[in-house]
Amino acid sequence: MRVIDHMVAGGQTATDAASTRQGDVFDPNSGQVQARVMLGDAALLERAVAAAQAAQPGWAATNPQRRARVMFRFKELVEQNMDALAHLLSSEHGKVIADAKGDIQRGLEVIEFACGIPHALKGEYTQGAGPGIDVYSMRMPLGIGAGITPFNFPAMIPMWMFGVAIACGNAFILKPSERDPSVPVRLAELMREAGAPEGILQVVHGDKAMVDAILDHPAIGAVSFVGSSDIAHYVYRRGVEAGKRVQAMGGAKNHGIVMPDADLDQVVADLSGAAFGSAGERCMALPVVVPVGDKTADALREKLIPAIDALRVGVSTDAQAHYGPVVNAAHKRRVEDWIQTGVDEGAELVVDGRGFKLQGYEEGFFIGPSLFDRVTPQMQSYKEEIFGPVLQIVRAPDFETAVRLPSEHQYGNGVAIFTRNGHAAREFAARVEVGMVGINVPIPVPVAYHSFGGWKRSAFGDVNQHGMEGVRFWTKVKTVTQRWPDGSPDGSNTFVIPTMA
Ligand code: NAD
Repeated sequence: MRVIDHMVAGGQTATDAASTRQGDVFDPNSGQVQARVMLGDAALLERAVAAAQAAQPGWAATNPQRRARVMFRFKELVEQNMDALAHLLSSEHGKVIADAKGDIQRGLEVIEFACGIPHALKGEYTQGAGPGIDVYSMRMPLGIGAGITPFNFPAMIPMWMFGVAIACGNAFILKPSERDPSVPVRLAELMREAGAPEGILQVVHGDKAMVDAILDHPAIGAVSFVGSSDIAHYVYRRGVEAGKRVQAMGGAKNHGIVMPDADLDQVVADLSGAAFGSAGERCMALPVVVPVGDKTADALREKLIPAIDALRVGVSTDAQAHYGPVVNAAHKRRVEDWIQTGVDEGAELVVDGRGFKLQGYEEGFFIGPSLFDRVTPQMQSYKEEIFGPVLQIVRAPDFETAVRLPSEHQYGNGVAIFTRNGHAAREFAARVEVGMVGINVPIPVPVAYHSFGGWKRSAFGDVNQHGMEGVRFWTKVKTVTQRWPDGSPDGSNTFVIPTMA
């Protein structure tokens, strides 16, 4: 069986005695194990850190424009390899090829941002802060950064992190999800091909043991994490305790508010993609819809049912499929358990996606789309993230309730409002307690030169991903106060401005 190895400087490790544990990598379409991934430990990390330490000073001393050229070549190589990367990604994750390409493309946009790093790294300057005194600040790399990433965006999220970190002059150690680890390795290979020196981007696979080793390693200056909230909180606490800079993005339960004046056909089209696309395995999915007023709710429900019935669930290579299988059997069970919890709590299950079987792929991890109505804020199935193809209708009597629901939820990643009323939208955007807001935009993921980050239990730490926030995260500021007295060492004041004569 294929073994997916770490990618650390100095070559292969699969035969190393130090890292013999392995994990299963499934093909979610067939439900079968398709590969094994090495699970590394502290000894393997030590090797990666030593290589990073050796490579980083030279990389930091490489002028930013040359570093940007490496990012530019990497972007071109990823584009040339787009089809192969998308198929590889889809074969381990289960998202359809169009979604896999979107995953890669959104990551590439951060690489495009990183191509402008010379501009982003320019510091500040004050001339004449005092008599003969000037002050300037520089953004310096931290040294070695690490990224710990989730299964659901195996291309985009690693690129969010290493794209900015490496362009800023850091060495980077990536610990991708052990559930779909192949694309991150391929990206690291392409970075090498693009000209990144050995040791500047390394991939170590693993589970909690590797994460703990990263968090405890004194030579790693900053850790960026994306995953579920309990683990994000744990990573944040342990990393900060060890004196590191940590940003840790967590789970989500994003609401879509539907005002009575909204274009319902457009809302239904948006929800089909935003709630069910990628089998709901997106941190910016829209799994809760909040129609304002019963009339809006009834009309929306009536239009949603046929739209959901029309969704095609298929293998990830099916170009007609709206979405494919979820990532593994445990996750499929978890989603189906949440559907049962919703039923037990008294929500009305309007469309039941459980028990869905795809002919010829009966062992695959497929779940049909589900729709709940009359979900209430007291229900556990509302409070927690389901992360599957399940849409919940929570009816709100008025605008105030619609603002309150996402604001009071434990998560605060994204939210959307659908309306034709500019004043209502403006009011909502200003007051809602959520980090990323869409106005008639169902998935308001900020473009790469803005920054991504939620509020409350959706993000621990206070600096967001990519854009200028990313540059701030991956650099530290040095401020120089300088004075060049006009005089010779003996005080005779003989300095003469040189002339060309
Ligand atoms: P996860 O928390 O299970 O895993 C994330 C990472 O943590 C992986 O690399 C994994 O190996 C590691 N990990 C797993 N268990 C660990 C443990 N006990 N201790 C230390 N590390 C551990 O998340 P996932 O299932 O891979 O991804 C889905 C989750 O990620 C969802 O909750 C989703 O909302 C969230 N997510 C959030 C964002 C965001 O930006 N806010 C983006 C994408 C995904």
